[in-house]
Amino acid sequence: MDAAELEKRAILSRYKALYQSCKHFTKNELKSIRKAFDFANKAHKDIRRKSGEPYIFHPIAVAEIVAKEIGLDATSVICALLHDVIEDTVVEEEDIRREFGDTVLKIILGLTKISGVFEYESEQAENFRRMLLTMSDDIRVILIKFADRLHNMRTLEHMQPDKRLKIASETLFLYAPLAGRLGLYNIKTELEDLSFKFTEPEEYNKILSQMRATRFEREKFIQEFIAPLKLELMKTGLNFEIKGRTKSIYSIYRKMQTQNIPFDQVFDLFAIRIIIDIPEPYIREMVNDKQLEEIITAQRQREKDACFKIYNVITSLYHSNPNRLRDWINTPKANGYEALHTTVMSKTGRWVEIQIRTRRMDDIAERGLAAHWKYKEKSQANTFDKLVSDIRDMISLQKNHNAEEFVSDFKLNFFTDEIYTFTPKGKMLILPKNATVLDFAYEIHGNIGNRCIGAKVNNKLVGRYYVLSNGDQVEILTSDKQQPEEEWINFVKTAKAISFIKDAIKARKKQIAEKGYEMLTQKLKLLNIEPSQKNLSRMLIYFKISDLSTWNYMIGSGRFPLHLLDEYAQNPDLKKKKIVDNSDNKSISEIVKRLNKDLQTISSTTKNIDFEYATCCNPIPGDSIVGFYFPDKGIEVHQIKCEKAIELMSHHGNRIVNLKWNEQHQVAFLAGLKINGADRIGIVRDITNVISAEEQINMRSINLESNGGIFEGTLMLYIQDTKQLEYLTEKLEKIEGILSVSRFDSHSA
Ligand code: MN
Repeated sequence: MDAAELEKRAILSRYKALYQSCKHFTKNELKSIRKAFDFANKAHKDIRRKSGEPYIFHPIAVAEIVAKEIGLDATSVICALLHDVIEDTVVEEEDIRREFGDTVLKIILGLTKISGVFEYESEQAENFRRMLLTMSDDIRVILIKFADRLHNMRTLEHMQPDKRLKIASETLFLYAPLAGRLGLYNIKTELEDLSFKFTEPEEYNKILSQMRATRFEREKFIQEFIAPLKLELMKTGLNFEIKGRTKSIYSIYRKMQTQNIPFDQVFDLFAIRIIIDIPEPYIREMVNDKQLEEIITAQRQREKDACFKIYNVITSLYHSNPNRLRDWINTPKANGYEALHTTVMSKTGRWVEIQIRTRRMDDIAERGLAAHWKYKEKSQANTFDKLVSDIRDMISLQKNHNAEEFVSDFKLNFFTDEIYTFTPKGKMLILPKNATVLDFAYEIHGNIGNRCIGAKVNNKLVGRYYVLSNGDQVEILTSDKQQPEEEWINFVKTAKAISFIKDAIKARKKQIAEKGYEMLTQKLKLLNIEPSQKNLSRMLIYFKISDLSTWNYMIGSGRFPLHLLDEYAQNPDLKKKKIVDNSDNKSISEIVKRLNKDLQTISSTTKNIDFEYATCCNPIPGDSIVGFYFPDKGIEVHQIKCEKAIELMSHHGNRIVNLKWNEQHQVAFLAGLKINGADRIGIVRDITNVISAEEQINMRSINLESNGGIFEGTLMLYIQDTKQLEYLTEKLEKIEGILSVSRFDSHSA
């Protein structure tokens, strides 16, 4: 058999595997799926992926994820098979419409990237916005996009390093949080772990091997913890399953980062999950909608009772932490998540998290409400519709903002934790954590927000910047004389509020600018200067003002006295200054492309490009780094794990420069160490002695604070590389009284 024949068979066998996951569809649907496969197979013929495999492997894999892992309908499977044909082949929109109809075409267009005709400041942000716009019409767009992204992440090792970083960062910055927000926890976790693996392979592997090394011990602990619990639970007569679930590598890493602790101090490496099977009621055909609703309500009550019954068994066996009870059953999360979480003390003195849920709740938690939206149940459909309509509202509010602003507002509004607040009439409003009275006011109505002067929170009078907590009842107070102020922006969390405030201020500024423009033209008339484009540009340069509308605003608000123009009018030479052009985006991409031809090495003697070390993460030799090219400052160097860098990679993929350290770096770098320990006389001297004994290390600052016999301090040091820092850390740890020494970045401090 020749190679071509072998490949044909390989393609067919992959298709058969997909077919196995589609067996529940109708005959006609299966026919259409076959048609879509044949169509895509023909279109992608002779095209290969970076790995060398036939391209069609990718759409088939995406379709399989769509059918099996997300559980979507036949139309989605068809769209998944066709999702890359418009972008990558000669197939036209019309062909798709003719063969598969309007719905399929619309979804595919939502999945197609904008082509490189225009170079956007942030192409990724623009694509993401477009995808969200289509998603608000048809949620399947985003769900198929997740499948596409997941398969690309699973096969990312075949891409170039800078592409890898770009895709992985974008995934971590946008797709993973969005998957979480829509309740697709399995996909979220896998996307995070894969992104982490490609952005920080060393850290990833380190945690992975530590997880493996402690596996036996962990499993033994889980078994011992579960055994007595199992017996007690069996006595309830409920049908349940109990398992220990290890947390994801990325979430462990996050914990180590945010709490600044080493691996062996992360105690909740796993959670215990109890899943209860409650038989579904047998519904005879004669019930009407109202009766059906009643039956379902009764079933939900049984589920609730069972979960709390199990909770009572657990807390009578183990001591529980009352602050750690999370009741997502009586108040489900906005993405539909339902469960009861509690943390209990094990016999060996370790806190253990336990999650209690029914089989139905577990299904939603694993695969997301999205997959269930088509199903019968009203309450769930409502939750999901609400989510989608929230997204739609937000998009329509933000139409006028640029793509980058849009994406950051979207993140702000959708990816934060929530609090539950109430109107005086008891209506619940879900707001992001740390939301203020102003957010609440804008959530009710734009006009209420604009006129908000404060509120009564739980009957106590508070200001408009008051930060709300879970369960607060809020009555907004307004005044007709109130107008939004610019500083309000700093005290709101929701994109809705930001959008209203910006619009109100913009409108007011526009009014003032219009008045200013009138004043300006009158004045120019007096001075006999024509208000031509050319003349106005010259004056802007002369007065060092960025643009005309700013100038008009300054004039209108009295911050630019018009008599300054008299001087200008008497100085004809100054009228003829040249106007400088700003360099455009295109040249940025070209420069970066040239830079990325070979891996850039950072050295103190670079020819014609400057390196600037970012102050947010203070990279030092030995750190994994990435660079961003900016025309005005050269290459900005960040640690790869720096949050700012992740945002930059995700928005400005065209600026990424691959970097490595030079072997012989002579420059000293600033690094921070956090130390704590038991306070005693002379400890500061001991610390400084250790440091000054190192010839190549210089101290910039030392800061110690003592509190009740315990001290905490930070050291800022100029050092050469990570090796030196590790060596110093070891020496400091040996000082009597010191409990821990760890590196910190200024953004996590
Ligand atoms: Mn694709």
